[in-house]
Amino acid sequence: VQHKNFGRNQVFQTSAAYTPADEREVLQILDRHRGQRIRAIGRLHSWSEAVLGDGVLLDLRRLNDIRLQPDGDQFVATVGAGCQIKRLLKELDRDGATLHSLGLITEQTIAGAISTGTHGSGRHSMSHYVVGVRLARYDASTGRAFIEELSAGEQLQAARCSLGSLGIILSVKLRCRAQYNVQEHFTESRRLSNVLDAETPFPLQQFYLIPWRWSYFSQHRREDARPRSRLAKLYRLYWLGVMDYGMHLLLLSLKRVLRSRRLIRLAFRRIIPAFLIRNWKVTDRSSSMLVMKHEAFRHIEIELFVPRDQLEAALGFAQEVIKVAGGRESTLSAYNQRQIEELGMQDDLAGLHD
Ligand SMILES: Cc1cc2nc3c(=O)[nH]c(=O)nc-3n(C[C@H](O)[C@H](O)[C@H](O)COP(=O)(O)OP(=O)(O)OC[C@H]3O[C@@H](n4cnc5c(N)ncnc54)[C@H](O)[C@@H]3O)c2cc1C
Repeated sequence: VQHKNFGRNQVFQTSAAYTPADEREVLQILDRHRGQRIRAIGRLHSWSEAVLGDGVLLDLRRLNDIRLQPDGDQFVATVGAGCQIKRLLKELDRDGATLHSLGLITEQTIAGAISTGTHGSGRHSMSHYVVGVRLARYDASTGRAFIEELSAGEQLQAARCSLGSLGIILSVKLRCRAQYNVQEHFTESRRLSNVLDAETPFPLQQFYLIPWRWSYFSQHRREDARPRSRLAKLYRLYWLGVMDYGMHLLLLSLKRVLRSRRLIRLAFRRIIPAFLIRNWKVTDRSSSMLVMKHEAFRHIEIELFVPRDQLEAALGFAQEVIKVAGGRESTLSAYNQRQIEELGMQDDLAGLHD
């Protein structure tokens, strides 16, 4: 059976694939395939080799129950491994709860998201809030599959970002919080220091370096005790139309139909920024405000962690690489050229330009 990840950069073949209905069936499959390589998958949204497998594949989408229990003024949810984040958010919202932290999309399963340390809003990754993991693995003495609950210590820490290598996750227990609102508005800034300074008043902010304009667009965000704005629905439509679909369709048509680098640069420099409405302050539910329909167009999304004091240099590097890839410069600065050579990535850089 052939499988492809969402970004289509990972293609792999397995000898057997199962979609077990319950935990008992998972154990039966493990016992049947003892000694073989077994890979569990979520929705294959990871870009890395962490999803590859050549033996037996387990897709846990049918293990998707959700149980929510109050825990003081917070909540604890027990979630089936294959439950997608979008369904979890919907169910939690019904009970006035939500997740502490979210990635940019909600297509992932809970097991897949925590297995790669998915992160986005706020300071912590989703894994940070995991207090228990139920998994199926082999007993070293009998060789038979059994179920283990991890709720403390190094084992729990390992399960919080295990890249699928600790066992088959059956369910995840994680701390949740009461639903909350977030206020957001857009601003533009030329200086990175201004962007970073805004983190204190807007701790949930995210920002983008806009290629060819070389300025920063920030979504200034913070928790807001006020109710949802009257125009929140309109704002969501605006985002969907302009950012999630409009911007991508524009860039795709410039790249695929008109095949013009000049127009792509113009789009980033002038056209896209013209559609970004600055200082429109809108308050909406966190689970709507903090995510995007970023999966609407197939692409590979790679997250890198950069320490704050190295961000300026990293963005300078990215800027130079984009200029070379876009044909505006033929070489990098001596320092960045050395970095590329140390990584042995000269051909990759040249390939970007082709
Ligand atoms: C458009 C897009 C936007 C994204 N945005 C973000 C973002 O904002 N922040 C961020 O951090 N990441 C982001 N990602 C990455 C994504 O969140 C992660 O790759 C996540 O792991 C995908 O979850 P999945 O359910 O598709 O898991 P998969 O990709 O199917 O699997 C990921 C890993 O989890 C393991 N796994 C899955 N299920 C189980 C199980 N039941 N038991 C044991 N192991 C299991 C797999 O073996 C594999 O190692 C984005 C990806 C895309 C495509």
